[in-house]
Amino acid sequence: MSAINGKVLQLQHFSVNDGEGIRTIIFFAGCSLRCKWCANPEGYTMHNQIMYIGSLCTACGRCTAVCPRHLDFDLHNKAVRSQCDGCGCCIPACLDNARKNTVSTWTIEDVITQLEPQIPYFRQSGGGVTYSGGECTNQPEFLEKLVKKVYDIGLNQAMETSATFDFDQVQSILKYIDLLFVDIKHMDSKKHAYYTGRDNEHILSTIASLGQFRNDLVIRIPVIMGVNGDDANIIATARFVKQHILDPKIELLPYHSYGVDKYEQLDMSYPENMFRTPTAVELNHMNYLIEKEGVQIISFK
Ligand code: SF4
Ligand code: SF4
Ligand code: SF4
Repeated sequence: MSAINGKVLQLQHFSVNDGEGIRTIIFFAGCSLRCKWCANPEGYTMHNQIMYIGSLCTACGRCTAVCPRHLDFDLHNKAVRSQCDGCGCCIPACLDNARKNTVSTWTIEDVITQLEPQIPYFRQSGGGVTYSGGECTNQPEFLEKLVKKVYDIGLNQAMETSATFDFDQVQSILKYIDLLFVDIKHMDSKKHAYYTGRDNEHILSTIASLGQFRNDLVIRIPVIMGVNGDDANIIATARFVKQHILDPKIELLPYHSYGVDKYEQLDMSYPENMFRTPTAVELNHMNYLIEKEGVQIISFK
């Protein structure tokens, strides 16, 4: 039987925001949504792309010398970028860190080798592993094998998902997960489609199904002023959570613009410039609205 490999953006050790204790976050490549505020646009696809940081480039030409296609160094030039197949041969040649691969191929053993030195930190802090992305459930075979392996080691496992998955396909994986974060990005289906590329019907129906039997479900709202931070949407989200989830909990994640540079490095245009981070006063107000609906506010910050 051939080994199942995963397409991974990166592993991030010593994270404390996505579950209990100290955690390693595994960012899977590939996502079927296209959120206009996405901080990880390099994870839209499972194909490797080259991030080009023009400010670090010294125009030395080493990358061109090793490129099988003899492409010019300037990946901000659309004609050059369009011919790049993401083979990654040029990355080791760049001594100025002006190029990076977005996606690497990992075996289960590769991941476990990375996790092993972290196990003492997990044990001391009550932490573990969090599967994130992109959308980790887009690689169900790799995810299932990895989750079972990590379960056998006895580590706590959390998952962040957009709930775009096929419930039947992922159910066998979810039983090994100790804490499940699911996003609700907007309650208005048309606005959801406008901002993420897909309506919210499948997502909400999946959350409602999960909410009937899981009491470890945390609904996350990425709060973006100008998109979903208005009272009507926050109240509608809280009411949905209260109605469909056994142990209703919401975590508010304020929008940040940390990923904006990546759009430039990948020659993608940042789709919107009307997004704003909520203020502390606005967040307190949202907390008040949510708790008033009988939903607990939770935070892993
Ligand atoms: S990734 Fe491959 S094709 Fe693209 S510039 Fe580098 S070496 Fe050339
Ligand atoms: S090897 Fe790096 S620094 Fe040199 S031209 Fe290519 S991208 Fe620029
Ligand atoms: S679901 Fe997450 S990874 Fe996918 S596009 Fe939206 S923000 Fe990006």
